[in-house]
Amino acid sequence: YLPELDLWLDPWEAKPRAFVSHAHADHFARHESALCSDVTAMLVRKRFHLPEGRIEAVSFHVPVVRDGFRLRLLPAGHISGSAMLHVTRIKDNASLLYTGDFKTRRGRTAESVIFLNADTLVMETTFGLPSYEFPNVMETEASILGFIHDAFADGETPVLFGYSLGKAQEALALVHEHGIPALLHPNVAAMTAACRETGVETLPEPVEFDGHAPPGHVIIAPPNAIRSKLLRGLKVKRTAMLTGWAMQPGSKFRYRVDEVFPLSDHADHPGLMECIKRVRPKRVLTVHGFAREFATELRAKGMDAWCAMGGDQLELSINQTAQRTASAGATRHIRAICSLADFGDLCRLVGETSSRVAKTEFLASYLKGLANDEDLRLAAVWLTGEALPRRAGRRSLHVGSATIRQALLSLPNVRE
Ligand SMILES: [Zn+2]
Repeated sequence: YLPELDLWLDPWEAKPRAFVSHAHADHFARHESALCSDVTAMLVRKRFHLPEGRIEAVSFHVPVVRDGFRLRLLPAGHISGSAMLHVTRIKDNASLLYTGDFKTRRGRTAESVIFLNADTLVMETTFGLPSYEFPNVMETEASILGFIHDAFADGETPVLFGYSLGKAQEALALVHEHGIPALLHPNVAAMTAACRETGVETLPEPVEFDGHAPPGHVIIAPPNAIRSKLLRGLKVKRTAMLTGWAMQPGSKFRYRVDEVFPLSDHADHPGLMECIKRVRPKRVLTVHGFAREFATELRAKGMDAWCAMGGDQLELSINQTAQRTASAGATRHIRAICSLADFGDLCRLVGETSSRVAKTEFLASYLKGLANDEDLRLAAVWLTGEALPRRAGRRSLHVGSATIRQALLSLPNVRE
């Protein structure tokens, strides 16, 4: 949520004013006013029947000035019409880029991604682990085409599964480019027709699958149609799922298909890193997927990076501990007098023993040793475990220990 603009970014619930990055269902709700790209506006009208008057369609790159801010939509490369939102506060040039879903590889049916520098980067991190490095896309496409021709050779009908908006059109454009005719599940056919209306030129006229597939045709269907009546009728078929999650071991068995191909409309881990390199942000906030893990990785590289949902945990570096242990012999470690450390020790002692008598003794000696009433009052509140009581309407802050550590270290005279 951007309070100065009263603008929500891809909220799940309907809001008075929201930026809708693209026309996927998990990024859309029936907002009072939806800001989006021209193409997304057309798709949203088709798909969700949102009335014209509630959509504010903006062309890519055209700046819109509003309440002292300059807003600009940039292509995100995720699916046709998908946009990133770049915001500049005019008075001090502070800037923010919200990526929405994006990918860095060039697609056949989506506009290519364009990044712009920003102070704050809010980015999606669906595939935010280093293990998610997709193979070269030409290799993946060659494997998909090989799969199709092998099925034809064995007299089977190849079926490719991918989201009805985005992946399905990428698959269709690929097979069309190689002269293979395709039959489309009704949802895919409808979305393909909508994409063609918005001006995607790489797509052929959609032909709907009616349960009968002549030899030499490939079928393209959404993943949720895998056990549909329409496809169950097709007896001799060979199935494949197109998804970035194909990188996970065992995904073939989880999706219950004959083959999986890592063709994704999201950036892989190197793609996420490329985004950071191009945007050159001072601060990064991560959303979706491995958001916490990716933020942790960036912090380890010295960046100011946090998961937008909170809950970042404290990183304990084994190397640092090892260095400290090694130097302990040379200079005697003198512990600073620190009431927080004493409090921590007390909690550890109380936690370690199951004896109630011992717990009481630890508490008594700690409380007796406190220097003043203020400390006593604070300790009593925190020891109840109810420093932040649950009350109706209150929300959990999801503040993890990494945030607490950073806050503590920002105080004067506080050291690690
Ligand atoms: Zn999406």
